[in-house]
Amino acid sequence: MEIVPVPAFSDNYLWLVHDEASGETAVVDPGDAAPVLAAADARGWTITQVWNTHWHADHTGGNLAIKATTGARISAPSSEKIPGRDVVLKEGDAVRLGKHVGRVIEVPGHTLDHIALLFDEERVAFVGDTLFAMGCGRLFEGTPAQMYRSLQRLAGLPDETNLYCAHEYTLSNARFAVQAEPENAAAAARLTTVAQERETNPFVRATDEHAFARLRKDKDSFRS
Ligand SMILES: [Zn+2]
Repeated sequence: MEIVPVPAFSDNYLWLVHDEASGETAVVDPGDAAPVLAAADARGWTITQVWNTHWHADHTGGNLAIKATTGARISAPSSEKIPGRDVVLKEGDAVRLGKHVGRVIEVPGHTLDHIALLFDEERVAFVGDTLFAMGCGRLFEGTPAQMYRSLQRLAGLPDETNLYCAHEYTLSNARFAVQAEPENAAAAARLTTVAQERETNPFVRATDEHAFARLRKDKDSFRS
């Protein structure tokens, strides 16, 4: 399974996921169609699936154009606000890319419909706007208790699990590096792991939902 970041907007990462054996390609959270279609095209890949983690437009805005261009099937959580959805994903469901099987877990907090996609064998997790390197998503819809539990679920994954986040806030230089050197897989892989987040992420390390709620509130008004 090959995973390629496609930078979009000011700090979004759209992830292309390719399986060589089957020739299938999925895109995770295509907020914009054009850069994703171009990146797939440049590699000779055709997008066959779209996976959305939640309804926000910077994660779903490209759904319809990608479907119209490629005929891709769209799998996404149950929110009515997701354009073009074909398959509803909920806790325990599977997504398949060739022989790779991912499982869906529900991680509400940033939005109520938010899901993560976990490929246990590949040690890969697409976590959308729930967890970022040393950070977490804002609480637009959910409660601190929901988000705290969601973060703890992700932090409970095996140490070496690579976390594919939908934004890069702390390492904006990494985004530039990927743009400057699109073929540099090492730059693309300036990723974070579950172990690193357990060691460094204050939101993950919060002792309970109340401590988490305080941190999240502080961060909402934090200006560096
Ligand atoms: Zn979002």
